[in-house]
Amino acid sequence: MSQSTKTYTSTCSYCGVGCGVKIHKAVNGSLQIEGDKSYPANQGMLCSKGMNLHYAAMDQTDRLLYPEMRGNRNMPLQRVSWDTALDRAAAVFKALIEKYGPDSVGYYVSGQCLTEEYYIANKITKGFIGTNNIDTNSRLCMSSAVVGYKLALGEDSVPLSYDDIELADCFFITGANPAWCHPILFRRLENHKAANPHVKIIVADPRKTQSCSLADVHLQLQPGTDIVLCHAIARRLIETGKIDQAFIDAHTSGYEAFKEKVFTLSLQEAADICVLEKELIIQAADMIGDSQAFISMWAMGLNQSVIGVNKNVSLLNLSLITGQIGKPGAGPLSLTGQPNAMGGREVGGLSNMLPAHKNLLNPAHRKEVADFWGVPAINEKPGFTATEMFDQLLSGKMKAVWIICTNPLVSLPDARNAEAALRNARFVVVQDISNKSDTLKYADLVLPAAAYMEKEGVMTNSDRRISYLSKVMEPPGEALPDVDILCRFAHKMGWKESFNYASNAEIFEEYTRITKGTNIDISGLSYADLIQRRSVQWPVPEKGHPGTPRLFTDHTFYTPTGLANIISVDSMNHSEKLDDDFPLILTTGRIRDQWHTMTRTGKVRKLNKHISKPFLEIHPEDAGIRGIKQDDVVTIESRRGDVRVTAILTEDIKKGVVFLPMHWGRMLSTDLTRTNNVTNNLIDPVSKEPDYKFTAVQVTKYVKP
Ligand code: SF4
Repeated sequence: MSQSTKTYTSTCSYCGVGCGVKIHKAVNGSLQIEGDKSYPANQGMLCSKGMNLHYAAMDQTDRLLYPEMRGNRNMPLQRVSWDTALDRAAAVFKALIEKYGPDSVGYYVSGQCLTEEYYIANKITKGFIGTNNIDTNSRLCMSSAVVGYKLALGEDSVPLSYDDIELADCFFITGANPAWCHPILFRRLENHKAANPHVKIIVADPRKTQSCSLADVHLQLQPGTDIVLCHAIARRLIETGKIDQAFIDAHTSGYEAFKEKVFTLSLQEAADICVLEKELIIQAADMIGDSQAFISMWAMGLNQSVIGVNKNVSLLNLSLITGQIGKPGAGPLSLTGQPNAMGGREVGGLSNMLPAHKNLLNPAHRKEVADFWGVPAINEKPGFTATEMFDQLLSGKMKAVWIICTNPLVSLPDARNAEAALRNARFVVVQDISNKSDTLKYADLVLPAAAYMEKEGVMTNSDRRISYLSKVMEPPGEALPDVDILCRFAHKMGWKESFNYASNAEIFEEYTRITKGTNIDISGLSYADLIQRRSVQWPVPEKGHPGTPRLFTDHTFYTPTGLANIISVDSMNHSEKLDDDFPLILTTGRIRDQWHTMTRTGKVRKLNKHISKPFLEIHPEDAGIRGIKQDDVVTIESRRGDVRVTAILTEDIKKGVVFLPMHWGRMLSTDLTRTNNVTNNLIDPVSKEPDYKFTAVQVTKYVKP
């Protein structure tokens, strides 16, 4: 790099791996990206998305530059000043709160928000408006894992680090395709297995994905049968004595009931339900049982389900009955889809949580938070979750929503329902960076936000690593950092004293103070310290503390008894029913080079080269009986809507199952490429996470009228 180039450190803003990057900025403003070799998560490596971060940042042709407002939905948006925009927002919110109460308004935010932004949005909503109606798109990807960890370990706490990967000798990857969705972790796995051929990798997925290239065993299970599979593995482990009875006796509760549960089905019966060969289940179980250090990894394939929590605990049970937790190379590692999904949970940015993982249903916790924020009380009623919020807008019980850094018209299930909800809302604020967000269509007020690299802040990745992201350049036009927009709004609402921060450092340090004494204590961390260290894993309970790579090393868990809970769950699937009209199971997911609704990655020519248009994967036999050939245009129809894309025939998908990528919305294509036209809004009853992985559909060849 030339001497005139300035280098900044940051963290990749796409997936939850949270790779460290160096951003080199030349005097003419052009940027180059380099993987940070000193950064623990990626050790210098970057995937295709990370390597192209700077192209998305430099292309500002789609950016929202000025606040815009419209008098009513029939009028065009018109440029206004920040003062006018935020005066309107405050006036409408005050009027609605006064007339209909605080629960008539809410915020819908994002796992891409920085920790400070999440914290301030949460403080405004729960502390000052007086409603818990703040939820996040992380609800759509992580909430089942959060509940699973809480139930089993007593806290939403990933027990291990990425550095445990190189210490493990067996991996069970289920409901995840890290080769495409968490590529740098997958590369660490590849390198580890190449250097240690005895390392065993089991992949469970109805699709033979790129991640299966490393698999010793691929369990191509029937969608919705994950619990049956985990129970069958557990049964085999128990039958062969490959469990850690001493660990179970000393550090867990619930084992006997679980044992009884898993013995209700024989291995053959389980194999039949999963549509797998029994021998493959036995092989997988024996690999886990024979390993010295076992890691499970999972993502949306387990979480995005009407039985997502039960799937999570059934997987966690495998670590608990084998004693594979709290020691080197072992533990359950949930993979986060977004860069700051974990940070959002830390500051309580979900409708049922409070900052520092404090419990909204606990009166003492509510009082602690109310006292900390200097407000009379926190509303005891949990707020609406993501899909519930849109249902409430549709029914008219909620009147206004403020959407930050997310594009729900593409990403929410049953998108036409979400669209009807926004159409029905009295007042919609969209705070975003891109004019390509489909959601702008229903915005009464548009607030232009600063993008990645245009603001400083903090995020937490999937292995509890908190990192500092530098500001590299100024936002274009009049765009402002999200946290500034929120604080300016708070001032307009009359809460200036409580939102009068001189810097992001002050916000972060306020948040660290409320973590004191909790399981996620980072009260020993200051902004200056974090900037200097780049990153550290929580907890960091006192100044100078090195951070905590591994939890539960003494096998004392965060439950009241200190014992981990082995939880027996029903193995039934409660997803949408198949019938003659809708006989196929649709599952949705990511492709390698796109991110969410493509408002950033869709701008990068190199990334669009990988897969340039939406498609449907279908098994040749399912295609054959429908007269569908390779590259035919097909219609995918569900009980809610339809999608029209090109068919790809592949034996890599299980018969009876079809797959659509989740990324394309209308703005970048047409109404008929929006995958979520067809998905359903069934949710897990506890985590409230939607069931994107099991929609009943029919597929027909499209014939032009
Ligand atoms: Fe970014 Fe994830 Fe790729 Fe790392 S693996 S470079 S965090 S997208």
